[in-house]
Amino acid sequence: MQYIYRKSLLYKTGVEYGDYTINHIEGCSHGCLYPCYAMMMAKRFGKVKNYEEWIKPKIVANAPDLLEKEIPRHKDKIKFVHLCFSTDPFMYGYEAVSNLSIQLIEMLNASGIKCTALTKGLLPLELAGVNGKNEFGITLVSLDEDFRKAYEPFSSPYKERINSLYHLHKKGKKTWVSIEPYPTPNIVNQNFNDILESISFVDKIIFGRLNYNAAVARYPAHKNFYDFLGQQVIEFCLHHNKEWHIKNGTMTNYASNKIIEKSREYVHSADLFQCGAHF
Ligand code: SF4
Repeated sequence: MQYIYRKSLLYKTGVEYGDYTINHIEGCSHGCLYPCYAMMMAKRFGKVKNYEEWIKPKIVANAPDLLEKEIPRHKDKIKFVHLCFSTDPFMYGYEAVSNLSIQLIEMLNASGIKCTALTKGLLPLELAGVNGKNEFGITLVSLDEDFRKAYEPFSSPYKERINSLYHLHKKGKKTWVSIEPYPTPNIVNQNFNDILESISFVDKIIFGRLNYNAAVARYPAHKNFYDFLGQQVIEFCLHHNKEWHIKNGTMTNYASNKIIEKSREYVHSADLFQCGAHF
């Protein structure tokens, strides 16, 4: 494991639906090939040179010290802190990363700050014992292990990932799933409903299209495709009394927007349209 030092950690993000965030690791071992937006940005800003460097994560060794100093400064403005927008807090097979993430969540919770966390790794069982009103999520865009090996090569197997989330749900934790970035059928042909059913226990579902991938534009009906699946998510959540959020730019036609508006009339949830997201 490599270590780096930073000058600051906690900041307000401009990412859709984000509030404050921390990224206490640089790089990500999961090595997603959708491509990964976080890696594209890290390359653009000269933080990593290439994919090989990106998948060798570096821990921010002074993250707890930074957080200790920064919490009092921002505490009154924070609604929640998301882990993470530009890396993964529970990288598969990286215990040191997971342990640090738990430590930072506990520090934030001790100051009365709620955390949301999202992973393509495994949510550690220890999170069940963390007391704050946190929300734990996984990203799940397929149940097909061949797809995972091709596009998320070093992430956790889907069944294990779902089971880790289910465990936290059974322990009374609020859970959510980010079905994003969802691929078009020319990338992987799969049954969307099977994915929804596999995570039917969660409290909230986020759905978003795949961006930055030329294969999407080559799928002739991709706008209708995403409109249709967005509607499916909304109907599934209405039927099962869940919160949801459809990411900006995913549902594009007028009829779909009308469905969202209509749904607001039926579901009365103060934070229906608030959530954390990976990026
Ligand atoms: S898990 Fe997220 S940050 Fe890590 S490589 Fe995949 S998309 Fe990028």
